[in-house]
Amino acid sequence: MSPAATSAEKIYKIVNARLLMNHEIVENSYLWFQNGKIVHPQNLFFDHLREADEIIDAKGLLIAPGFIDTQINGAYGIDFADHHGSVEKIQEDIDTVAKGLLKYGCTAFCPTVVSSSAAVYEKVLPLLNRRKGCAKGGSEILGAHVEGPFISVEKKGAHNQAVFRNAKNGVKDFDDAYGSELKKGNEAVSIMTVAPEIEGVSDAIPDLVARGITVALGHTACRIAEAEQAVRNGATSITHLFNAMQAFHHRDPGLIGVLGAADLPLPEAGKGHPQASATSPCRQKPDPRPFYGLICDGVHVHPNSVRIAYYSHPSGAVLVTDALSALGLPKGVYRLGGRDVEVDENGGAYVKGTRTLAGSTITIDECVRRFQKFTNCTTVEAIEAATLHPAQMLGIQDRKGTLNAGADADLVFLDDSEGEIRVKRVFVAGEEVEL
Ligand code: ZN
Repeated sequence: MSPAATSAEKIYKIVNARLLMNHEIVENSYLWFQNGKIVHPQNLFFDHLREADEIIDAKGLLIAPGFIDTQINGAYGIDFADHHGSVEKIQEDIDTVAKGLLKYGCTAFCPTVVSSSAAVYEKVLPLLNRRKGCAKGGSEILGAHVEGPFISVEKKGAHNQAVFRNAKNGVKDFDDAYGSELKKGNEAVSIMTVAPEIEGVSDAIPDLVARGITVALGHTACRIAEAEQAVRNGATSITHLFNAMQAFHHRDPGLIGVLGAADLPLPEAGKGHPQASATSPCRQKPDPRPFYGLICDGVHVHPNSVRIAYYSHPSGAVLVTDALSALGLPKGVYRLGGRDVEVDENGGAYVKGTRTLAGSTITIDECVRRFQKFTNCTTVEAIEAATLHPAQMLGIQDRKGTLNAGADADLVFLDDSEGEIRVKRVFVAGEEVEL
């Protein structure tokens, strides 16, 4: 079915919808949008005496906010860290991925760049700045997620340690590494993954946070004390929990142990922090524990581990694909951050000739399905881990991750009749996407 072209000024009313609103599914409901934003119908009736120009029949499907993937390295043979070729070609490649992601219901993402040299960041980061989504142009870019190079050699995973750095000179070292783009803050870099035990890194976190950057801990061999100190300094996320960090040890649980922290300072403002849950240290304040990314493909993290994490800190779960350029491609050998990566028949991606995982080939909607299966959580909880939670992590929940009035009309229509979600229709900024 080819969707009718949607026009900006027109008022759209979705009928026969089941809406995910305020942590529950509201049956037989309506949703209004105009100019790419969800609007409150009362404002239209009483302020402008307007009725809907067009009715969209959701036919009983579940409507949720579009999925947000905060860690994705590329797809369709394209790697965001690949700087070869002209700027025009790289731009074209980014557009190809942005467009391709829409069909999985991913309406916003943080293109992720693995540890690279200053020259690579200089060329690539300007192309990954924030950019609005649209049906033709693709999924919205929320700024880049730079993973490394301030990370641990011991937990390097598929990263190239030749470009690793320390931060002896504080934030100046970060500016040297990423170049002038970092001065733009979250306009250019929305998430930065760092290892807190690398010299100077933990102390520099407040400066990075001051630029609006979400500081995530990952690719680290840190002990629990270093991890908690980094959280006190302002880190609000953990990158792909369980992967590329110390395994859980009961006497020193390392970074994973932060999920059990009971005496972190309570945040005053909700922005950038998980909301309180039944397991929070305080039910009245946002949860001081960080969000944590989970690669929910069943390969990177055992389902039992996903379940343990989720039930210890449910409001912090953020589903990520960590997909690499092989997403959407068959079994074979591909390039990731300048290395050969082998994809096997199960979709597992390994550094060629080793069993070191290099990223996944899973899609975000499949992450939601598996997460629900692994944890036995509700459909709402599974969806929120790919919508509300990533939006809260980035501090953009006023425009992403909810269906509240004022939010962007990024919508996925889901069939959940078989007990798991299937993407049926997708809207980005109020425009329907041809699937
Ligand atoms: Zn990683």
